[in-house]
Amino acid sequence: MAEPMPARTFLEILTGEGLRVEEVGDWRNHHRNAAGAWGPVHGVMIHHTATAGAERTVEICREGRSDLPGPLCHGVVTKDGTVHLVGFGRANHAGPGDDEVLRAVIAERALPPGNEARADGNRYFYGFECENLGDGEDPWPDGQVDAAVRAAAAICRHHGWSARSVIGHLEWQPGKVDPRGFTMGALRERVAERLK
Ligand SMILES: [Zn+2]
Repeated sequence: MAEPMPARTFLEILTGEGLRVEEVGDWRNHHRNAAGAWGPVHGVMIHHTATAGAERTVEICREGRSDLPGPLCHGVVTKDGTVHLVGFGRANHAGPGDDEVLRAVIAERALPPGNEARADGNRYFYGFECENLGDGEDPWPDGQVDAAVRAAAAICRHHGWSARSVIGHLEWQPGKVDPRGFTMGALRERVAERLK
């Protein structure tokens, strides 16, 4: 458990992890804090966007959709491995999820199956959306996966968390399939490797 870091720290730790970072608009003050709480933070959640095209993907994640106001995450990891900062604070990425999963993340133990939707994920998780169609065929360039690993590791290092604080949306909310194309176990191994 931790208080959310300030936006300037978020930018610093991401660039410090060797990431190429693009700041989009007034990302530091773009959030959904009026809709609910932000923090304490417990982990990092990884998603795929089900979209194609960097520009359009970043715009959707910043502005949201007709049924879901933006920001839809904090950082968008496009295919080229750039992290685009679109918002900071509460963001509409995680939705309601399993409180037992949340307890496991907090304790940094193995995750139980996520089969409830009771806990407010947008309050507790940093979120990264990765540009991918999520159809199981759209490739994941290694530079993109590496950027997601670095982003997650930067946050874990800052807060003193292990790789067990990094989860996929599919591990949080019943019915979600993202991210699709790699396993979260493999991603966590890479985060753990970076944190050594
Ligand atoms: Zn998602």
